[in-house]
Formats: sequence, C-alpha cells, structure tokens
Amino acid sequence: TDAYLERAGQAGPLNAFVRITDDIARKQAEDSDARIARGDARPLEGIPLGIKDLFCTKGVTTQAGSHILDGFTPTYESTVSQNLFDDGAVMLGKLNLDEFAMGSSNETSYFGPVVNPWRREGDEAKLTPGGSSGGSSAAVSARLCAGATATDTGGSIRQPASVTGTVGIKPTYGRCSRWGIVAFASSLDQAGPITRDVRDAAIMLKSMAGHDAKDSTSIDCPVPDYEAVLDQGVKGLKIGVPKEYRIDGMPVEIEALWQQGIEWLKDAGAEIVDVSLPMTKYALPVYYIVAPAEASSNLARYDGVKYGLRVEDDNIHEMYSKTRAAGFGAEVQRRILIGTYVLSAGYYDAYYIRAQKVRKKIFDEMMGVLNGVDLLLTPSTPSAAFGLGEKTADPISMYLNDIFTVTANLAGLPGISVPAGLDAQQLPLGLQLIGRPFDEETVFRGAKALE
Ligand code: GLN
Repeated sequence: TDAYLERAGQAGPLNAFVRITDDIARKQAEDSDARIARGDARPLEGIPLGIKDLFCTKGVTTQAGSHILDGFTPTYESTVSQNLFDDGAVMLGKLNLDEFAMGSSNETSYFGPVVNPWRREGDEAKLTPGGSSGGSSAAVSARLCAGATATDTGGSIRQPASVTGTVGIKPTYGRCSRWGIVAFASSLDQAGPITRDVRDAAIMLKSMAGHDAKDSTSIDCPVPDYEAVLDQGVKGLKIGVPKEYRIDGMPVEIEALWQQGIEWLKDAGAEIVDVSLPMTKYALPVYYIVAPAEASSNLARYDGVKYGLRVEDDNIHEMYSKTRAAGFGAEVQRRILIGTYVLSAGYYDAYYIRAQKVRKKIFDEMMGVLNGVDLLLTPSTPSAAFGLGEKTADPISMYLNDIFTVTANLAGLPGISVPAGLDAQQLPLGLQLIGRPFDEETVFRGAKALE
C-alpha cells in the first residue's frame, strides 16, 4: 500500500486520481497486516485498489466528475465497494471519470481530462485513456493501483480497457448491485473491474458481485468461482463472429487482430461460426435515446437543495436553474436536453417508445444467436487511443466509439475486453467477447484463451 500510495502521489500529470485517501488506505492495510499475521486473511486481503468516483464512499467526497456534487460526502458506502472492503481490499483513492460517466474519452470531467500512459511510437502527443472509466483504465495501466472499480452503461469499462492495454469486464445486468452508485441510465448501468489480466478480473468480480436486497434489479443467483474455471479452455465451445461488426472505415489492423483472435481460439479447440446480427446498426441510435432519457430523469434530483452545489437566488426556480446551469458541464446538459425531448409529450411515442421496441428486438436477436453459440467475438473499439481534444468538437464522432459495446448493455449481456495486440504505432488494441446472461464463466474462459 505504501508503494502504491507513493506511486499514485507521483502520477499527478496523468490526473487519474481525484482524491487519494492515504489515511483510509493505511488503516485498512494495517488491519490486513493484522489479519494476515493471525492467519485469517480474506480473498483480497491488503490488495490496493482505486475506486471510480461514481461509487459512493462513506465519509469520502464523491463527485461523479461533476461540479454540481461539490462537497457531497455520502453517509453510506456503495454495496460494490463495501463488498470489496469486506473481502479485505484497500482503497487508495477515488478515480477520475467523465462527468456522470457520460463520455468516451474522460474529457468531460470537471476535474479535467485523464491522460493515457501510452504514447504513439515516436510521438509525444497526449492520448485519451477512453471513458468514462478513464481514471480506472489509466491508473491500472500505469500501475498506480492493482485493480480498479469501473462502471459500464454503453462501454465505459470495455472501451477504456481496450485503449489502455488492460482487461475490463461488464458483467450481466443484475450481477452487481447498483446501490450507492451514482445513477446515469439505470436500465443499462453495471459495475465491473478493470485489471491487469484476466485472472485478476475473475478474482475481483467475484468479490464485487452478488445479490443485494437494496437493488431490486440485482439478481439472486450464486456467484461462481470465476478463477476456478479459467484454465478449462475453450475446446468444444462455439464462438460466433458477427459480420455486421465489419464496419466501413475500420482500420486494417483491427480487422487483422480480429482475424488473429479467431485463429487463436480455433487453435485452442473452439469452433468458429459466422453469425449475423442485422439489428446491430440500430444499437447506437437506440442507446443514444434510452440512455439520455434515463439520465434526464436521474439527474433531476440535482436541484441545489439535496446535494452539493447551490447558486443562491431568492426565487426558488431561479435557484434551481442557476445551480443546474453552473453545475452541469456541456455534455451532461446535452444529454438532459436530448432525454427531456425524447420523453416529452408528442415525441415520447416517436422516440422513446420506438427505441424501447427496437431494444427488445435487439435483445431477442442476440438471444437467438446465443442459442447457437456460446460466445461472440468482436473488436472492442473501432480505433486505438485517440488524441486529447481530437473528438471533443464533434459529439457524433465521440458517440461512434461505442459502436461495438452498446449492444451488450441494451441486451444486458456480459462482455469483456482483453488486450490482444498493438497497432503499427505500438498502441494497445482489445478484443471483446460477449456471452449469455449470467454466464460470465464462459466469458472468462474465452478471455483467458485470448490473453
Ligand atoms: N460513452 C458512452 C456514453 O457516453 C458510454 C458511457 C458509459 O458506459 N458510462 O454514454
């Protein structure tokens, strides 16, 4: 813990941590030492982790990357972080993220962008670590923590993992409790780990997951020992390759890496099957209706009364609007406007209801294909890490980063990104495996075979 705290303290230029919690970390580490000395160690005893600042931490300011949560100090602990601490983990600090987890580059944070520790060969230009869990991915990639919590609403675990050479798994919707996680889009949000390798992800997810009576969408089914299945291999598994993921303009290197992944899995004994998912093209438009709709509703609670920032005014309506204008950044305001629009009378049926219907069709199509194959193999992202500022002026080009990841959220399926190689500029690229609901075990077996 001391070594990590020192390293994290020196990594200011990456801007991965928004808050380092030395006192808590040292106290937890001392407790861990005592437990180990007593021969009473828990599964994560003394393991130093970073916690995405979307997870409420008791007594530790939690801001979700937003100005509007200035000084908000929860009086409770999120179930996922509590589960980790109950298993012996140590919290080094809170990690930076896109504001309210809205973004794909960690550039919408009130605390400024996070910098990817990777650089293009022979080029010092700073790159984004992906988003929204950019603090988590950068911190794990730069070895500032042994693992990190993250959340994924449309790709925010898998995309940052892919562009930083780390492993990230979004489990099945309902696998981890959402209780105490600042809500973005409640029907899509899921917590998961970002780690250095597949084994660490398996170990960490086991601790994070589990039923929680405080989240009515958390599922009451046993959490398997993911680590125990890792070495079972992929012999006999059927792995589908969806042709619709071969999009125009995809870099040849990603195409080649995907092919390489197919060969690796074949060599390991899997059967590769071509599959078709024609609804794929609707996933991104559906996501960018459903997610903002839910966000506009979830973010209505930030009114200057209950949490954080308040811009005073004698007129309460003025106070609300001044607080929200000052407290929310441009991307969050854009989502609230889109969400309010698609939910408004007159547009509700045309946008929101239609998107929900298409979402159901996407789910049915995915389940149909996963009836015949155990896993799907796709690239995680349509490009390697891009430069800071490169896509901020064009929200659509930013949203396109999520093209391969949003389907798993809309359908609630588990998905993992595994580092699979480097591009010509020596930047990491990831491959994604998507599995059946609550079958993270097979996802982990596939991931281990790709690693
Ligand atoms: N990039 C997507 C968005 O901005 C996904 C974010 C996430 O998964 N939290 O909505």
